[in-house]
Formats: sequence, structure tokens, C-alpha cells
Amino acid sequence: MVNRRKFIHASAFGSLGILFSKIAAGNQVPFTIKGKPVVISTWDAGLEANKAAWEILHKGGRAVDAVEKGVMVTEASQNCCVGLGANPDRDGFVTLDACIMDEFSNCGGVAFLERIKHPVAVARRVMDKTPHVMLVGSGAQQFAIAEGFLLEEQKLSEQAQAAYEEWLKNSQYKPPVINIENLPVRQAGKQGHGPFAPHKLSNGEWNHDTIGMVAMDTHGNMGGSCTTSGAGFKMRGRIGDSPIIGAGLFVDNEVGACTATGQGEDVIRVAGSHSVVELMRQGLSPEVACKKVIERIVKIKKAKAKDIQVAFLALNKKGQAGAFALHPGFRYAIKSGDKETLVTSKSWFNE
Ligand code: ASP
Repeated sequence: MVNRRKFIHASAFGSLGILFSKIAAGNQVPFTIKGKPVVISTWDAGLEANKAAWEILHKGGRAVDAVEKGVMVTEASQNCCVGLGANPDRDGFVTLDACIMDEFSNCGGVAFLERIKHPVAVARRVMDKTPHVMLVGSGAQQFAIAEGFLLEEQKLSEQAQAAYEEWLKNSQYKPPVINIENLPVRQAGKQGHGPFAPHKLSNGEWNHDTIGMVAMDTHGNMGGSCTTSGAGFKMRGRIGDSPIIGAGLFVDNEVGACTATGQGEDVIRVAGSHSVVELMRQGLSPEVACKKVIERIVKIKKAKAKDIQVAFLALNKKGQAGAFALHPGFRYAIKSGDKETLVTSKSWFNE
């Protein structure tokens, strides 16, 4: 017979057990404030992507769901820059990288993934359904197929096909500076199509090889995603910053979130997105935090900084957005209840 004392003892430990198992599962809300939702994303393609994210955010949905759906718009757009129609590697294969992170520090990534339309959705499954953080190559593809994703045929967009054919003429791997203003020159072929060159879309907007998105939902919780075809005409097997948690993306629900675009190798070198978030933790604004990490890259690269582009885009817990790039030309899209616009980032090098 269970006496009263034993019953209280058992139920106290019973509820503690439930509490501990929830913490162990990593799904206790760590920090919750009510806030106004906001979503920001890299480059002009972010405008459309933000709209899809907003559909979820304005109804009170989770930031992590919003950033997944948001960047899927860009992945599906069959342009030259993100997703299956994007610039291939130097052997002609499109290989995709993506990652996602939520308010509980759950995260997932895929890299060197071929013939799957939505790498970010596979990254989400890695996060939700496996004990791992990252799957790559044929293992990532095998997992995607097991999860019901279709194995698609690779079909380069017209722009990617043209850019690849142009590149094959010299087959030189040299990252150019991203600079939207001088693109007509580059598009005319004088500088060639480089691995990090943005591209003009049919609707007249500029796009780039990556979309990174971070958001805050109505509960004040944050999430982020990043998806890319990586550097155009890269060596086969090359992976950049975009699928790497801490480099191309980082979310800390107590502080804020950051994503990166540009030359991945130099973002990885400084654990870019993580470094930005840590600087925001010390009280710096998103823009100043992004600037400090760009300065770190300049210090490392010295004169070579003029040859590469890197940009960081960050959002803090107050819903303030900020960015900083190495070179002029980086733009980001922002959407909130009362704002939907493209913002031109400040940069270390001047116009
Ligand atoms: N960061 C990406 C990479 O290095 C490229 C980009 O942003 O265009 O793969």
C-alpha cells in the first residue's frame, strides 16, 4: 500500500523526472520575451524569401520554421545562385551546402549534397531526426532519400550554364571582389564570372551564391538558416562556411543571430558568425559587431583583403539589425510589421 509520504515522494521525483527528461531533450524554452517579429536575409533575393518567412512569423510561428521556409523560396527559384540550377563546381557538378539553427541551440547541416532540391530542409531533418549535426556527400544524399526527398536531375540555369562555359575558357580559380556597381563590367566579360560574383535575375534584381537568413518571432525567440551552391567553379569537394555552424550561421537565443556571405574560407578562419554573436553578447550593436569581425579579417589578410568579399548580417535580441561588409556592394533585405526594404551595408573599403 502506498502511504501519503511515499506518494508525495514518488510524485515529486516523477515530475522532476519529466522536467529533467525535457531538459535532456534540449527543448526547454531558455529565454522568452514577447516581441515584434522581424526577418533579415542576405542580398536582393532576400526580399522574396523574407515574404515566405513572414507568412509564418506574423501568425506567431517559430523563427526556425520561418527561416527554413524563407530560404526554400530561393532554393526553388532555379536561378544561377542557390539551389539545383546554380553555378557548378569546376567539374560541372552542382554541390549544395546548408544549415539551420533554432532557439534551443539545436542545429543541423548538410554539405557537398548533390541532386536534392532543398538542402535546408534536409539540414532541418538532420537537426530534428538524427543525433548528429552534419551529414555530407553521399551520406547526406542517402539520408535525404530515406527521408522521402526526391533525387532530381541536375539542370543548370541558363545563367549558370553560360557562366560555366565562360569560365571553362580559362578555367582559372580566382575569387573576385563582389561589387554590384562594377558588375556590368564583369558581366560584359572583362573580369569573367568569378566564384562569388552576384548575378542579375530575370526580374532585374541582383542575387548571389548564398542566402543567409535570421529571424526573431513573436515570442522573442530566434532562428537562422543558410543555403548555398558555394563558390562557383570551386574544386570538387570544397565546402565553404555556409553549412558550418559558427561560421556561416550562429544563433544564441540569449543574444542574437548572425549569418555570413562571401569568401567562406575567410569566414571560417575567424569563426565569423559566432564571433559576431559573442561581440553582441559584450554589448556591441549588430553593425559594430559585424565591423569588428571584418576588421579581424582585414588584419589577417592584409593586402589580400582587397581581393575578396565577406559580409556579415546580424540581429540582436532587441530586434535591431545591422551588417558590415569588406567591400561596397553588399545589400540585405529586412521585413517587419512596418518595414519591407533593401538596405545597403556599410563597408571597410569605401566606394
Ligand atoms: N559563403 C559562400 C561560400 O563560401 C559563398 C557565398 O556567399 O557566395 O561557399
